[in-house]
Amino acid sequence: MTDFSALNLSPVLQQAIQDIGYTTPSPIQAQAIPVVLDGQDVLGCAQTGTGKTAAFLLPIIQKLLTINSENRPIRALVLSPTRELAAQIGESFAQYAQHTTLRHTVIFGGVKQGPQVKALKRGVDVLIATPGRLLDLQGQGFIDLSEMKFFVLDEADRMLDMGFLPDIRRLLNVLPAERQNLLFSATMPNDIVELASSFLNNPTRVEVDPESSTVDQIEQLVMY
Ligand code: AMP
Repeated sequence: MTDFSALNLSPVLQQAIQDIGYTTPSPIQAQAIPVVLDGQDVLGCAQTGTGKTAAFLLPIIQKLLTINSENRPIRALVLSPTRELAAQIGESFAQYAQHTTLRHTVIFGGVKQGPQVKALKRGVDVLIATPGRLLDLQGQGFIDLSEMKFFVLDEADRMLDMGFLPDIRRLLNVLPAERQNLLFSATMPNDIVELASSFLNNPTRVEVDPESSTVDQIEQLVMY
């Protein structure tokens, strides 16, 4: 197994990884990070627990560090189906980007929009959002996505299960055409494959076996 130094991440990311205590990249990270750094779109089949958050955040942070931007337009958008997952991605971002000056914020529904609007007005490089609140604030003119370069659709299968497909389609219509797209999903049913082919450009597929659902210490027998 390679270690993180083989992935050519910048020293500020290497330092963060060391501070957090990761030693080796997980399989999805070893596969996806070079592909994202290379600028390719990604179709990732991976569940929560595989390290997929770092698999997309680390290379996006690395790429953002190389693009100079004075007035902090939103340059990366991560779409998540639930507020809990969005908050978790936000926490991971704060850890991974701890030695950089990049800023992020997390927006989701069910709470007052005031503090979220205030954070957006300060300027953020990375926006992590659930679909409904994102479209709501975008419709009100608080979110400008015209400079966005990286789009991550996380847990796409859950998004569809929760009925977010129309929101995702509306959102895709307002995103700038030139961008790098990453889609992650635990499962790949037909509707996800269709959605993926509607906006991913010649994606590289990365995949990890689902975590084994059996425990080694439990003996399993079949009685006929
Ligand atoms: P995720 O699948 O992104 O939700 O990550 C699941 C958990 O694995 C989180 O607690 C991460 O902090 C942790 N994690 C991610 N990458 C690594 C790694 N390379 N080594 C050890 N732990 C990791």
